[in-house]
Amino acid sequence: MKVIPINDARTLAPQAGPTPPAGAPLVDRRGRSLRDLRISVTDRCNFRCVYCMPREVFGSDYPFLARRELLSFEEIARVARLFVARGVRKIRLTGGEPLLRKDIERLVEMLAALDGVELTLTTNGVLLRKMARRLKEAGLTRVTVSLDALDDATFRRMNDADYPVEKVLDGIAAAKEAGLGPVKVNMVVKRGTNDHEIEPMADYFRHSGHILRFIEFMDVGASNGWKMDEVLPSREVVERIGRRFPLEPVDPNYAGEVAERWRYVDGGGEIGAISSVTHAFCAACTRLRLSTEGRLYTCLFAQSGHDLRSLLRGGADDVRLDAAIAAVWQGREDRYSEIRTAETAALRKIEMSYIGG
Ligand code: SAM
Ligand code: SF4
Ligand code: SF4
Repeated sequence: MKVIPINDARTLAPQAGPTPPAGAPLVDRRGRSLRDLRISVTDRCNFRCVYCMPREVFGSDYPFLARRELLSFEEIARVARLFVARGVRKIRLTGGEPLLRKDIERLVEMLAALDGVELTLTTNGVLLRKMARRLKEAGLTRVTVSLDALDDATFRRMNDADYPVEKVLDGIAAAKEAGLGPVKVNMVVKRGTNDHEIEPMADYFRHSGHILRFIEFMDVGASNGWKMDEVLPSREVVERIGRRFPLEPVDPNYAGEVAERWRYVDGGGEIGAISSVTHAFCAACTRLRLSTEGRLYTCLFAQSGHDLRSLLRGGADDVRLDAAIAAVWQGREDRYSEIRTAETAALRKIEMSYIGG
């Protein structure tokens, strides 16, 4: 087994400039505000998607984090409250597979109590039948479900854990029944692997009330063997669907929305295209990631994170924690997708299952 060590923590540097007054929004070096927080609640997963946690790397002896290394729900909620005070308006729980984290609905309840925040979760969907109602009652706003194919053989090949499509479709239905819709359905498109599923997926989710979103295969992490040849540009996805089911563009919901929106001319609903490789959206990127063990990452493609857990467990008060958070965001300059090259793609980056997708 090839183990990719994660030992990248940067000690939080003392504040370079003054911390803005309590409650003032934070702006990074490129003028971007902090709006979205993605929290990875586990680095484990019941799937082994070929583009995320390939089995050759994440085998049975892979050293996943020990329980004591994970941030507790109380630690997460404490940090989240400070982020909300600094302008975060959306929190997404992710992983790994977030529904594998024991008693996750307790964390949902704690975060839902924060004022003015939209709380969502991204999941592979197989545990939703069991958990959707509890999550809704705990205060979750919506879910995003990942699904890469309708054809069972293709889907099983991609999740590499023998889960059938039926299980995910049932999870999506359960989310809808529980009031967690409209569900966003994420399909990662890998040329030559599942691009033949684009039209069937579009056809299936038209008129369903759910929003299908196509994501370009990205060079996250260091283990998924990414090659530009396997990226199918979203532009081509939209053209292919448009030939079967005519589409027209829709204005973004808000400035800087990541997914480009399209709707079916016949009223069949809408799709999204997330072109993280071919059309970078770094200029409007307002996202910060909190990893499973409490490191802050200012970019999905970061090579290192800032260790917040040491502060949390070392007795830092809220003023100290807030200053550390402010320092991280104010020092942020990331724009990886704008400067991606074959060389940068080969760099060792942090795995998505750990940093949170
Ligand atoms: N396990 C959950 C799931 O799959 O929905 C949440 C975590 S997963 C890392 C979050 C999202 O990242 C999923 O929609 C997944 O398809 C996407 N993802 C993972 N690896 C990717 C890659 N190499 N390129 C594009 N998207 C990727
Ligand atoms: Fe697991 Fe999600 Fe990664 Fe697939 S994409 S391996 S479901 S974390
Ligand atoms: Fe944001 Fe980094 Fe993605 Fe650019 S590459 S959009 S900075 S996460």
